[in-house]
Amino acid sequence: MAVNTTAYQQIVTELNQQQVTLVAVSKTKPPEDIEALYALGQRDFGENYVQELVDKAAVLPKDIRWHFIGHLQSNKVKYIAPFVHLIHGVDSLKLLQEINKQAAKHNKIINCLLQVHIAQEETKFGFSEDELLQLDSAILSELKNVQVIGLMGMASFTEDMSKVRHEFKHLKSIFNTLNNHHFTLNTLSMGMSGDYTIAIEEGSTMVRIGSLLFGARNYTL
Ligand SMILES: *Cc1c(COP(=O)(O)O)cnc(C)c1O
Repeated sequence: MAVNTTAYQQIVTELNQQQVTLVAVSKTKPPEDIEALYALGQRDFGENYVQELVDKAAVLPKDIRWHFIGHLQSNKVKYIAPFVHLIHGVDSLKLLQEINKQAAKHNKIINCLLQVHIAQEETKFGFSEDELLQLDSAILSELKNVQVIGLMGMASFTEDMSKVRHEFKHLKSIFNTLNNHHFTLNTLSMGMSGDYTIAIEEGSTMVRIGSLLFGARNYTL
């Protein structure tokens, strides 16, 4: 088993001091790896693929808080709505409306983060700052079964850490701006294995860490 429990303990100690929440990103890793961190007290786990999340949730302890951090298609919301704890990557009003609809069926409120496009790469999903500012508060407040509690972003995939820092700073400033408008946000999900220290310095409250804990992912399997 490749789970790095030493790294886990160090990261948890570091994050606790800063009051930052750790989401352990377990995508592509087997349930046994999740159990290894669960045994050490970890309860927040993040997954990117709906089917994989559903399969793992079925066989793992019920008190795990499952974070969906991937790109979510509207037609798949129904599979995770019964149990998901937080959906990080909400990138359209249409998706938010679908989450609201599915949450209503289960008579629950699903917490969501809006994904913001902060990286230069074209491929990253998310709202722009302008799109967020233009979101109609009246429409949002009609969605009784979703609660937008924060923002999520991914920095560019680059060695240039000053660029990464600049992008995180930008996301934090958008977070502050929205809080001065009609939002009440408390969660800023930014930072992964390679950049979480910078993200925390720039105001992250939640980091999503995979490979530092579980080892490199092998997508060819
Ligand atoms: C895979 C993934 C992570 C974790 O990445 P690592 O570099 O392995 O820490 C974090 N956030 C998102 C959205 C991911 O897809």
